[in-house]
Amino acid sequence: MGPNVAIIGAGFGGLCMAIQLEKAGIRSYTIFEKGSDVGGTWRDNTYPGAGCDTHSHLYSFSFERYSSRTRRYAGQPEILGYLRGCADKYGLRSRIRLNTAVVSAAFDESLGKWRVRTPAGEEVFDVVVSAIGQLNRPQLPDIPGISTFNGAAFHSARWDHSVDLAGRRVAVIGNGSSAAQFVPKVAEVAGHLDLFQRTPNWVLPKQGTDFSPRVRTAFRLAPFLQRAYREWVYRYAEHILYPALAGGWSTDLVRKYALGHLHEQVSDPVLRAKLTPSYPLGCKRVVIDSDFYPALTRPNVDVVTDRITRIVPGGVETVAGVREADAIVYATGFETSEFLSTIEVTGRDGRRLAEEWKEGAEAYLGIAVPHFPNLFLLYGPNTNLGHTSIVFMLECQVRYIMGCLPQLASRGPMEVRPEAMDTWRQNLDRDMEGMVWQAGCTSWYKNASGRVTGNWPGSATAYRRLTKTPRPEAFHFAR
Ligand code: NAP
Repeated sequence: MGPNVAIIGAGFGGLCMAIQLEKAGIRSYTIFEKGSDVGGTWRDNTYPGAGCDTHSHLYSFSFERYSSRTRRYAGQPEILGYLRGCADKYGLRSRIRLNTAVVSAAFDESLGKWRVRTPAGEEVFDVVVSAIGQLNRPQLPDIPGISTFNGAAFHSARWDHSVDLAGRRVAVIGNGSSAAQFVPKVAEVAGHLDLFQRTPNWVLPKQGTDFSPRVRTAFRLAPFLQRAYREWVYRYAEHILYPALAGGWSTDLVRKYALGHLHEQVSDPVLRAKLTPSYPLGCKRVVIDSDFYPALTRPNVDVVTDRITRIVPGGVETVAGVREADAIVYATGFETSEFLSTIEVTGRDGRRLAEEWKEGAEAYLGIAVPHFPNLFLLYGPNTNLGHTSIVFMLECQVRYIMGCLPQLASRGPMEVRPEAMDTWRQNLDRDMEGMVWQAGCTSWYKNASGRVTGNWPGSATAYRRLTKTPRPEAFHFAR
């Protein structure tokens, strides 16, 4: 036995937490999942071409490596299959309550436990682990007239596969990583595609997706090479990509690499000018794709930069006139800065998390919040990355929480001290100063007041070091 743990969400984070509990012999946990299957964002995003632009050898659990010897990057079906396979292999299914959204979680001080409420009723837990992710609530744009459109319209994360886009006029609003993946696929079948771009993105090429026959043979004969490859991918991101986000030695190198990619793939100077960002690389999430630019050069594709004024029954109206459309796809991203806002979370002294975070979400190590004992967050505030795998960060957080469990079991509910939180905030602010995300662009990394609440400003290695073992001095214990 061990503490009774409520895990909210059965995506990468929630499954990782459950697997480590299983490995530690702690079977007193329940995963609450609002959807009808495991997989989180990889269950929800089924748009054509959906996949991960991080190498799968790194975008998988270190203890359950993705084992493709043929492809560098996994597509959405493979990743979802991988997560389902993990749930089966580690026997998690019987602990998962599907179609069960947590509505509220309140810390009961007299019990020293959490009361977790779902539509099915209330249950009591020692510990709550939130694993609800950052990219799970689709955001529709605040463009007037959306409801007046006559044709099919849907968000990229709620793809309507019943709509046949073949031969149709398709309007795509937004040009982030999601659009970059499905635009090439849709452009192949659509009669015409208008890509409405408000701000150009920096784009880096995606390395050849298939491993060469020689590499495949090497991986087959010497499986340790896959571990070595994973390590190489990790180091490349840490030592070349990360410094480019921190104003370091590789800033110009990576920028030139991206510009070279643009020049190589887009010969038309007018289109190229439209696609050239005026802000530093990395300020917004960099798109990693080698099919996006070629799709934009197709004769049936236009990149429209005229400002959208409203949606009208027949299409999209811009300052230059109406662009007719049979279907609109909103690739407009997610509500990211209001962490945990779908759940009413109440801590000690009746403190509401939404109120505590009204100036911006924050958590010690992105994991613990003062006044909220035994509440732990996975992929919480300031733990997103712009250069490497989130799965790595999740594993760091899960390891940390696992380290907290024996402490809270012996000393009672643990709550991070405000002093520890203050020091964390000061260090975060200091480190954030050098990061490119502050450089005057808009992005989902920031909240409404412009504070970067999404991203971790250090390297992944630094985060691993900080989260290696919980420091009891940072916490107040009930006993
Ligand atoms: P996103 O990066 O947030 O992009 C949203 C797009 O919608 C932007 O181009 C934005 O323009 C545009 N937009 C928003 N409101 C608009 C409006 N009112 N009028 C016109 N345009 C508007 O969303 P996303 O592409 O879904 O990607 C979200 C994140 O998911 C990514 O950054 C990435 O972290 C993750 N993702 C990862 C992968 C992967 O392969 N690992 C794949 C897909 C997504 P502005 O730029 O001007 O705001």
